[in-house]
Amino acid sequence: MAEDFKSLLGELLQDTYSAETQLLEALPEMAEAAATPQLKQAFQEHLAMTQRQVERLEKVAEMLGVDPEGEDCEAMEGLIAEGEEIVDEHDEGPVRDAALIVAAQKVEHYEIAAYGSLVTMAKAAGMREAADLLAQTLQEEKDTDELLTQVAEQQVNPAALRGAAANDATKGRKGSAA
Ligand code: FE
Ligand code: FE
Ligand code: FE
Repeated sequence: MAEDFKSLLGELLQDTYSAETQLLEALPEMAEAAATPQLKQAFQEHLAMTQRQVERLEKVAEMLGVDPEGEDCEAMEGLIAEGEEIVDEHDEGPVRDAALIVAAQKVEHYEIAAYGSLVTMAKAAGMREAADLLAQTLQEEKDTDELLTQVAEQQVNPAALRGAAANDATKGRKGSAA
């Protein structure tokens, strides 16, 4: 493999490793912040998945002969910071859960982009085993994104809207009593 392409693949792998290890710290906090049981469970399951994804990246790094550490994924730092900011603005409940889902789906989409490119590059480089490992993770990120959409559609968004309607009704009653 051309050295330059190999070193690019190594750098991108390190960036993704940084992203995943940041998520190992963020996901327990997201699970803690989630009020909807299905969402809490989704975050807990994704944490376990993320641990396996980190191990896959370590294997691929070994195949490439690079240290998995060495890059800071600034995009993931930004996505996590932005998520924390929006979550902090809301009290525990379905509206905060809706914000958590948005933050988590932005993270999944970043990961889908990162792993999609890694798979394509590993294939181009003839690294079939590495490409297979990375493709497994890519599929997990896509499945997680879809699961989050389902939890939003079936649980969180309707509950957030019911809460808003209940608030309006309370205001309405107060208004008519005054
Ligand atoms: Fe991941
Ligand atoms: Fe990055
Ligand atoms: Fe993920």
